[in-house]
Amino acid sequence: MSKTEMEQDEHLFLYDTESKEKKKLIPKKGHPLKIYTCGPTVYNYVHIGNLRTFVFEDLLRRVLKFFGFSVQQVMNLTDVDDKTILGAIKSNKSLAEYTKPFERAFFDDLETLNVEKVESYPKATDYIESMIEMIQSLLDKGYAYIGKDLSVYFRISEFSSYGRLSHLQLEELKEGASERENTSQDEYDKENAGDFVLWKSFDEKRDGNIFWESPFGRGRPGWHIECSCMATKILGETIDLHLGGVDNIFPHHENEIAQSEACSGKHFVKHWMHVEHLVVEGKKMSKSLGNFFTLRDLVSKGFSGRDIRFLLLQSHYRMPLNFTFQGLDAAKNSLRRVEDFVTRLNEITHDTCAHLIGEHLSRAEFLFKKALSDDVNIAQAMAAFFDMIREINTLCDHNGVSQKEAGIVLKTLEEFDKVLGCLPLTKQELKVPEEVESLFDQRQKARAEKDFKLADDLRDQILEKGYIIEDSALGSKLKLKP
Ligand code: AMP
Ligand code: ZN
Repeated sequence: MSKTEMEQDEHLFLYDTESKEKKKLIPKKGHPLKIYTCGPTVYNYVHIGNLRTFVFEDLLRRVLKFFGFSVQQVMNLTDVDDKTILGAIKSNKSLAEYTKPFERAFFDDLETLNVEKVESYPKATDYIESMIEMIQSLLDKGYAYIGKDLSVYFRISEFSSYGRLSHLQLEELKEGASERENTSQDEYDKENAGDFVLWKSFDEKRDGNIFWESPFGRGRPGWHIECSCMATKILGETIDLHLGGVDNIFPHHENEIAQSEACSGKHFVKHWMHVEHLVVEGKKMSKSLGNFFTLRDLVSKGFSGRDIRFLLLQSHYRMPLNFTFQGLDAAKNSLRRVEDFVTRLNEITHDTCAHLIGEHLSRAEFLFKKALSDDVNIAQAMAAFFDMIREINTLCDHNGVSQKEAGIVLKTLEEFDKVLGCLPLTKQELKVPEEVESLFDQRQKARAEKDFKLADDLRDQILEKGYIIEDSALGSKLKLKP
């Protein structure tokens, strides 16, 4: 690779759902990028499908910083909707009592997956007053009306560019717009089947005692207005990036555009990004299909947050990710390769070298960044990273890396990890059961006494318990069986 090739313009290009093009992200001098990411509905534990989207959003945040952008990111918590209300009523709790433990569990999950904290996590119930103001303004401007069931609806026929994000035809739009937010089974409540709810009128049988007072009667906000309101209140009328899973494109994000722009008269979002689904046997992982795993399910099966994060982020965000335990095992093994590499580098004590490290590292850094600049092509970035490990391992085989160079490689790995967030760079103490330790000691003794039959026998017993023994010039050590 020539020097000029390596020094080429380093811009970040990201695919935009609305224009269907990769667009160059332009930094705004002195201003952070304003990012809104649709957060979880805190009525239960999130599943690893939801977490795929949240891990990608974290990856993007890290990539943006890697490219020199500063960011102001908001992730909302939907703590009022049909599901949270139903859960609270069923468990005889207030809405806050019901949602609080799931909110806490969500933050624990993010921590397990080493997801960076964003600048704000607003809760929908803290913004009801502002939502009411927004709905009133939409009523005043003629974009909204009160339906026969006394709920307030958005009139999609008034918003001329409705459908521009999802690229759907009017008939398809009419069918889907009210999905998840049907006020009743009776479509006659609305002027048009595609109109969606802004304020859901109170129904004692359905809502128990959960309601807010408003100029248009008791009730609660619709899901879509929650995000429009929190996004514009915290980040302003125009935001730079808005993200969510692909299921959010329609109707949720289409409706967010309509409400926000009808209210402010300003362009709402400059750039839309959507994460493809995590699927199981070709079907979207979802609570309703019952084909889901929570993070806790996987941790209890012996996988670490690192393993799961690696699995979730290693394929491109615009491709569906098929979840299998084989895939998760493979992710675990890939990280073990990195761990072995790190251990090897840490064990180098000699000062001879082949003077090739600089070349390997700069090529890997260049290819890693180039891949990320192309719509966060993480699969290619990972390939550059693992190629580098392979090349440096080969150098190590021939004593071509000195202790000082090994230190430089370890520092470079830390830089990669600012983006990846899951490399095993710190030594993790292997917790070996006492019984295995004892077998290992006996085997060492047998070897010292040249009783190789007994030593082999003990090695097999250790293997049965899930551990292998690695013998090298530096001695023998126990490792987990791959
Ligand atoms: P929800 O709590 O249903 O609003 O979902 C929270 C986030 O997870 C949204 O951005 C969804 O689009 C996303 N999501 C839901 N299911 C999946 C899935 N199977 N794969 C990836 N993302 C998902
Ligand atoms: Zn949202």
